[in-house]
Amino acid sequence: MDSRTVGILGGGQLGRMIVEAANRLNIKTVILDAENSPAKQITNSNEHVNGSFSNPLDIEKLAGKCDVLTIEIEHVDVPTLKNLQVKHPKLKIYPSPETIGLIQDKYIQKEHLIKNGIAVTKSVPVEQPSETSLLKVGNDFGFPFVLKSRTLAYDGRGNFVVKNKDTISEALEALKNRPLYAEKWAPFTKELAVMIVRSVDGLVFSYPIVETIHKDNICDLCYAPARVPDSVQLKAKLLAENAIKSFPGCGIFGVEMFYLETGELLINEIAPRPHNSGHYTIDACVTSQFEAHLRSILDLPMPKNFTSFSTITTNAIMLNVLGDKQTKDKELETCKRALATPGSSVYLYGKESKPNRKVGHINIISSSMDECEQRLNYITGRTDIPIK
Ligand code: ATP
Ligand code: MG
Ligand code: MG
Repeated sequence: MDSRTVGILGGGQLGRMIVEAANRLNIKTVILDAENSPAKQITNSNEHVNGSFSNPLDIEKLAGKCDVLTIEIEHVDVPTLKNLQVKHPKLKIYPSPETIGLIQDKYIQKEHLIKNGIAVTKSVPVEQPSETSLLKVGNDFGFPFVLKSRTLAYDGRGNFVVKNKDTISEALEALKNRPLYAEKWAPFTKELAVMIVRSVDGLVFSYPIVETIHKDNICDLCYAPARVPDSVQLKAKLLAENAIKSFPGCGIFGVEMFYLETGELLINEIAPRPHNSGHYTIDACVTSQFEAHLRSILDLPMPKNFTSFSTITTNAIMLNVLGDKQTKDKELETCKRALATPGSSVYLYGKESKPNRKVGHINIISSSMDECEQRLNYITGRTDIPIK
């Protein structure tokens, strides 16, 4: 399909699913990450680089082997990518290093969005974390508020909900030695998300608006489409598209939003890469988020409606599979129940099972959301009556 080689910084599950999409189109990929990482397990190549996406020398080594460089994680070394752009003008880097830089520090991301007129949760930097400075935040924002690490955050590891003044010291201890900012509590009724892909010539294509349900700060379920009125879906789509248009460069983006009791929509955060809330697209949409990303960074065709549901009646629920808290690999029982359920597909990432670690996901599709839920109830063991 394309003779260019795509280098991927990061070989986790997102890299693995980019590779799956690339393999189907016969596009060559090389990965930079630890040996035998999930993405490397499914591509036989002696060109993969063993190392880290935060190490300049390793990134340069990967860059020397590819025509287009992309990421599956935003916590990469941006100055090295910016240098590469100058040293190797023929090398394409998507998303653009500037965009990764604006997003990887969550407070800089907020400032950028505010500058571009996008509604976000109110935040302040916490330059000198102390009982006094956080008490002042509590007095200004009210309790609870969320103390967040500006960098290297994922799955809520980097967030601490400061419930009242007595939990300030615990928060300081939990996030010590990290660059911090504080965020006002968002009294949301639902969390919405959307995948948006941007072409080299700047066009944006939105996937359907979905609803994410988190458990202990980690995404548990994703309902597609979101169970909100069409008018709310449209408002969310416009907000997210405007946010994405404010960043330079192409590629796929995941946009997380809060839908408040007042009807207001605020952006929570943006990921410049495929995203957990877009896994349902593999089974429910014409083109998966992973293939859409490849089409975008390789400037391949992106025709009308290529990001829509496969049929107008498609409904989907995605369930994340997390490592069981007590017994290693016990979560595979859930996967086996999914294999026995119509309309359900299991994806395992080749990661060792550890408590609460994302080790896979299950996509359930049907022409009705009620039926998706019945199937989900069987898969999660809420009911033992198998679905015919
Ligand atoms: P991700 O894995 O999505 O990158 P993260 O570690 O960057 O996660 P956030 O997205 O900031 O974390 O927060 C995780 C979850 O915590 C949110 O999806 C939401 O459920 C809750 N949360 C975060 N910020 C707030 C807030 N200001 N008010 C209320 N809830 C919040
Ligand atoms: Mg995040
Ligand atoms: Mg998040």
